[in-house]
Formats: sequence, structure tokens, C-alpha cells
Amino acid sequence: MRRNTGYIGRFAPSPSGPLHFGSLVAATASFLDARHHHGKWLLRMEDLDPAREPPEAAGQILAALELHGLHWDGPVLFQSRRLDAYADALKTLEIQQRLFACTCSRQQIQADGGVYDGRCRFRKLSHAGAALRVRVEDTVITFDDRIQGSQSQSLERDCGDFVLLRKDGLFAYQLAVVVDDAEQGITDIVRGSDLLDSTARQKFLQGLLQLPAPRYAHVPVAVNARGQKLSKQHFARPLDLAQVVPSLLLALDFLGQRPEPALISGSAQEVLLWGAEHWDIQAVPKLANIRLDDIA
Ligand code: GLU
Ligand code: ZN
Repeated sequence: MRRNTGYIGRFAPSPSGPLHFGSLVAATASFLDARHHHGKWLLRMEDLDPAREPPEAAGQILAALELHGLHWDGPVLFQSRRLDAYADALKTLEIQQRLFACTCSRQQIQADGGVYDGRCRFRKLSHAGAALRVRVEDTVITFDDRIQGSQSQSLERDCGDFVLLRKDGLFAYQLAVVVDDAEQGITDIVRGSDLLDSTARQKFLQGLLQLPAPRYAHVPVAVNARGQKLSKQHFARPLDLAQVVPSLLLALDFLGQRPEPALISGSAQEVLLWGAEHWDIQAVPKLANIRLDDIA
């Protein structure tokens, strides 16, 4: 293992339901990468959308992480308590004349092929009841993902101006995640590959807000037998909390690590200690190569 290089990692669940296998994989990967580097592992609850968050879910997630031996450092950061910081970031972008109000519907944008064409940029619409979008540039954003390799995306071509404040007044994930990764001093982001596509947007915002650029590693996302991502929407069953060690071993398998079979009779703590010592990010596959027919 390397000595502490100032590594700070994090797990940032949205409390839309209890922990399921897909989120356990992301949590375990970020935990093991942090511990392998003798780094810190912070926890952030991304609770910005109350309508999608059963009130008990955050507590259930924290309890399930503890049961799996995934102990975090320091206090949990709740995004619901950080609204002033997001408003400040918007103010900074407003001063840069980067923001504009938009009243286009999702259906309209889908009908245009899903990439927003910037049609409201110069309409000077009232902010009331409108979404706020950030104007992107016609440049290509590139980065080296530690698992997925070299990535590049043109925001203008592939994504378009994107929403930072929703019509309903809620701050968008893309804004909050960037502000908080900086606030928590995150050096290394290890998360599911369903967010690979968001990374260019986040790097773009980091640039505008003059925030440090973390490293990224996107682990494969657990899919069910129909190839759908495991998430509450697809009715992934919550983890069986009586099966903590088998779940952790399955997560290690899924991440391309080769846990010793004898670990099955050990504790969660022992599995994670083994996992941190032997963590090999090179062995993590780019795509899910296990189908979890029995879990979804
Ligand atoms: N809250 C996001 C999710 O649960 C993850 C955010 C991130 O890791 O950047 O999908
Ligand atoms: Zn518009």
C-alpha cells in the first residue's frame, strides 16, 4: 500500500430508498480505494429532492453501511443543509453572465434529439418559474478515467446548455455535486459508470467556479437480467442485512477482485481489510460481467 498522499474519497448516495446491491458496489469500491491509499472516506447524503426521498431512507442507508463495516470519517454532509452554498455558486455564474432562464419542456428537448440547442440563451426570460441553464462552450472536455480510460465529450454537441436550477426551484445534482466535492476536499471520485457521462459537465463547472479537479474512476454498474441498471426504479430488492459477508464478497467479485474463499466465514471487517490490502483497480472490469438475476 502507498502512504497517505492526501487522498480524500467519498460515497454520495441519494436517499431514494434503502441500499441495494448497485449502491453497495459503488460504496465498497470507493471505500477500498480510499483505504488502500490510507486516505479518508467521507459520506455525503444527496438529499435535494424531498419528493423522491422517503424520510426513513437516509437513516436506513447509514445503518446498512455500518452493518457492512463501511465506516466513514467525520460527520455526514447533508446537501439539504447546503442550499446557501449552491445559491452562492449560482451567483458567481450569474456574474460571469453564464446563466439564462429557460422554459422549454423535457418533451420539447427530447423531440429535438435530446440535446438542448440553446434556444432560450438570448430570450431574456423572467427567472420566475423558469429553469436556469448554464451556457456551454464549443470545446471538447477530456479526462483520464482510472478504469474507463481516456474520455472526451463536446458539451455543445453531446449535451447542450444544462440545468443548474430546476423549474421547481430545486438545485440540480450537477451543481451541488461540484460545490460539495470541493467543499469536502475530495481528491478521488469512485462511483458508478452511469455517471461517466456527467463528468464532463462537472469538469466544466469546476473550471468556471475555479475549483480543483479531482481524479475519477467509474466502476461498472450492476445490471439485472434484462440489462437494466439496478435502482429503485427497477425494483432492486434492498440488501439482505442478514447476509452482509456474502454481499460484500459478491461486490468484490463484481469489482474483479478475487477474495479468498475462506473469507466467507469471517466478519465484514475482515473482508474489507483483505479488500483494502489487495485492492487492484486495474482488475476492475469496464463493464459489468456478472448478471445479477437473483438480486433484481
Ligand atoms: N447521488 C448520486 C447517485 O446516488 C451519486 C453522486 C456521485 O457519486 O457523484 O446516483
Ligand atoms: Zn429553453
